[in-house]
Amino acid sequence: MATTDQQQHEEELVDYDEEDQDQTAEKDVAADGAQKRGNYVAIHSSGFRDFFLKAELLRAIGDAGFEHPSEVQNECIPQAITGSDILCQAKSGMGKTAVFVISALQQLNPTENAVLVLVIAHTRELAFQIKNEFDRFSKHLSGIRTDVVYGGTPVPVDIAKVTGDKIPHILIGTPGRLLGLCKATKDAPRGPRTGRMTDTPALNLDKLKHFVIDECDKVLEKLDMRQDVMNIYGYIKRKPQIMMFSATMNSEMRDLCKKMMQNPLEIFVDDETKLTLHGLLQYYCKLKESEKNRKLNDILDKLEFNQVIIFVKSASRAQALSKLLNECNFPTVCIHANMKQEERIKMYLAFKKFEHRIMVATDLFGRGIDIERVNIVINYDMPEASDSYLHRVGRAGRFGTKGLAITFTTDSEEDKRVLEDVQRRFDVKIPEMPDHIDSQSYINA
Ligand code: ADP
Repeated sequence: MATTDQQQHEEELVDYDEEDQDQTAEKDVAADGAQKRGNYVAIHSSGFRDFFLKAELLRAIGDAGFEHPSEVQNECIPQAITGSDILCQAKSGMGKTAVFVISALQQLNPTENAVLVLVIAHTRELAFQIKNEFDRFSKHLSGIRTDVVYGGTPVPVDIAKVTGDKIPHILIGTPGRLLGLCKATKDAPRGPRTGRMTDTPALNLDKLKHFVIDECDKVLEKLDMRQDVMNIYGYIKRKPQIMMFSATMNSEMRDLCKKMMQNPLEIFVDDETKLTLHGLLQYYCKLKESEKNRKLNDILDKLEFNQVIIFVKSASRAQALSKLLNECNFPTVCIHANMKQEERIKMYLAFKKFEHRIMVATDLFGRGIDIERVNIVINYDMPEASDSYLHRVGRAGRFGTKGLAITFTTDSEEDKRVLEDVQRRFDVKIPEMPDHIDSQSYINA
């Protein structure tokens, strides 16, 4: 028992999404009953049929309500399904997840009892969401097993998942837990992790064919997380197809990613100045710290929102603000790193299912999370960097839909610097919030 606890504790230490609140993230779980969304659908005249996908896959794409591929899908899918390595940067919310999900499923032949597709995500919610996307698109394909692993859950349960006679063909996970499973031995699930390569790893990657890193700049930016990914990579025997994705990627990161790949197809759908989201209305609101709550109250009262995400800079502020909003009769949920894992997923799902309309979150929730009904993002605290701003506001205006982003900015030099940086880098003018905002301008008809 004690060993299991110890293992779990160790696992927590290597699970980075817990400690990493300063940055943002984004992606998507199955959007049931998806409708035609945004303007982008109209731009591309070709259909998914032109990609010659499996009939079962095309059916699932149709069920998801996808009529036409987005630009990034048009560019990437035809190449990705031939097995080429792909390094792709494209703006938030334009369907990067479907690129690797569809491409992997198209190529997958689930005849072996082994992990054939490995997807690394930097947060647990994102990993969970990607698993749901695989489920959504594989529902008409028979015999495909998909599972997800992340820290904060008992290690032996995950060891059981990746051993035995029902090994998932597609495994999605956070780096810490995945490496833990590579290091854990099959025969001694409760023993201390030796890390010796001579042990039979619980997670066997000998048959791996596709290796995906989502939000790759985020996953590889910190040395310790990068090290984990490299270590996981070391367990792979034959070079798989590698696909990496992000909305933001500087040139050093690009070079680093390319070192892991073989003549990758590099797809940069937009340069940075075009990364800003066109359906998104953006304003700043200059305030003193002490005026933020009143202004927030005011905004929530006046503006029409389907769902709103309010970003703050720390877990303690998330807790405090969520408590305050609940007391003010704005039913609110919050997600931050100090919460138990089950609780985090529970909140995420409840929000996704529209059981709550307001969420307070840290940057943990900033990247990759795709919640269709979110049409307003409020930066209660200014993000620390322009990347983080872009990812946060990208939670609204998904797939070319309309949305509104309001950023509270104080007099501090830091806040001013970030706001200027955002405007310069993404070539966008963010004006001061007017007294009245016409709801037509941020609500989809
Ligand atoms: P990204 O990874 O680029 O940030 P996502 O993969 O999360 O974007 O996709 C954003 C949203 O757009 C999701 O809800 C997804 O289901 C939806 N979507 C993706 N591709 C299409 C498409 N071709 N047609 C309609 N909706 C799409």
